[in-house]
Amino acid sequence: MQGIWDQFLKILREEAGSRVVETWFKAVSLQQWDSLGNTVYLEAPNNFVKEWIIGNYLELVRLHLGRLLNVNNVKVVFLDVSLESKQEKKVESPDCKEIDLVPALLDRSGKKALLKQMQSKNRGSFNVSYQFDTFVVGPSNSLASAAARAITEKPGYLYNPLFIYGGSGLGKTHLLHAIGNGIRELDPQASVLYQTADRFVTEFINAIRFDRVHKFQAKYQMVDVLLVDDIQFISNKEQTQEAFFHIFNSLYDSHKQIVFSSDTYPQNIAGIAERLRSRLAWGLVTDIHTPSLETKVAILKRKADLHGEALEDKVAHFIASKVESNIRELEGALIRVLAFASLTQQPVTMELANKVLLRVQGQQVGGADFNRVVKCVSKYFSYNLRDLRSKKRSKELSFARQLAMFLMKRTSDKSLRDIGQFLGGRDHSTVMHALTRVENYLKKNPDFLQKVKRMEREICR
Ligand code: ADP
Ligand code: MG
Repeated sequence: MQGIWDQFLKILREEAGSRVVETWFKAVSLQQWDSLGNTVYLEAPNNFVKEWIIGNYLELVRLHLGRLLNVNNVKVVFLDVSLESKQEKKVESPDCKEIDLVPALLDRSGKKALLKQMQSKNRGSFNVSYQFDTFVVGPSNSLASAAARAITEKPGYLYNPLFIYGGSGLGKTHLLHAIGNGIRELDPQASVLYQTADRFVTEFINAIRFDRVHKFQAKYQMVDVLLVDDIQFISNKEQTQEAFFHIFNSLYDSHKQIVFSSDTYPQNIAGIAERLRSRLAWGLVTDIHTPSLETKVAILKRKADLHGEALEDKVAHFIASKVESNIRELEGALIRVLAFASLTQQPVTMELANKVLLRVQGQQVGGADFNRVVKCVSKYFSYNLRDLRSKKRSKELSFARQLAMFLMKRTSDKSLRDIGQFLGGRDHSTVMHALTRVENYLKKNPDFLQKVKRMEREICR
């Protein structure tokens, strides 16, 4: 159950952002799965969290837990919260605890104390399963992983900043955590900070709200190593970019190591100030691309191993061949197969894998280009990309936009967040809502369903 829940959180992090996971889902647990009643039982730390999840995320929970458990129409039931008997689990605030000291005012011993405070705060902030020795190296990622290893041994000397880019689910976050784990192992005194860019943005906004910008900057300028994940989420956030620019300069000037990950290379990130963009590319820019079949097989075997299961070669090949490009999907497929085998107490055979992965087969994993979807939608409706991205909401335009969202989700493995971002910076919940609306509409309009099927084929051709 824990494996499934962890996998679910990982997907949710992609779909809705890490802030949603940290705020609402971290303290929720998957207690039980009743396969006969098609019901999952969850436990929330309190009623507030429970109600919030039901009100805002229930569809997402059903969709992805359903997929992981390989069933349709899964029911979700929250067990009664018996708070008194238990120690209440704490929901971590999205904004890391502020450190109450400012470096400029510190003497040596003060600085040491602050570093200590930061280290204990940071302890555990890296995912322990994301290590170099759990990262399978192949031609698609060898450069990025070699660079990551090199800077782990000598942070701040070689490639600064190191910029790793590549598609979703190809191992960028894994490498960033491996760097963090590795540096901390070699030098437990080093202060290493990992942050996703969208959390950085939130934290910055809060800092402004509560008049703590100075402290905010100080916290980042203190570190020896700064790892910023998904830097593309800083796009169009001018003030945050400005703040980050100063942090970058100060760290860079004192030879502190900075590492970025992104879904695309620096020149390609939209809405980012030129001077920051150029700095992102000052050091080494390296990419991770989609893995070969051999690498996928090696990853599957390694992952199965970590779950204490031996995977036969031919089953590994089979699963690898079903999932086009994304390693997160690959892992998801493996977990589904292993979970199904263990729930039904069967051995992991080709037949079983085939049965479980049947659903993956028809779908195009990896994904069509959003622009193809837009082109296709524009052919049926007379709206272009600007219209779809605009705030205008006439009835027909809204529907065209929702249909575009639906088709993007159907023809790619992009997250709700990526789709919303692409279509005018909309929220993941807007996209979720659109999917439900279109689905309902299609159920009632079989003619239109045929049209949509044709559109899908056209997009995937
Ligand atoms: P990204 O940040 O690029 O979207 P992640 O780092 O989150 O991708 O990787 C998705 C999943 O795939 C993680 O569970 C990660 O451990 C796994 N993964 C990716 N690349 C590798 C690899 N080379 N070896 C082992 N696991 C990998
Ligand atoms: Mg990532």
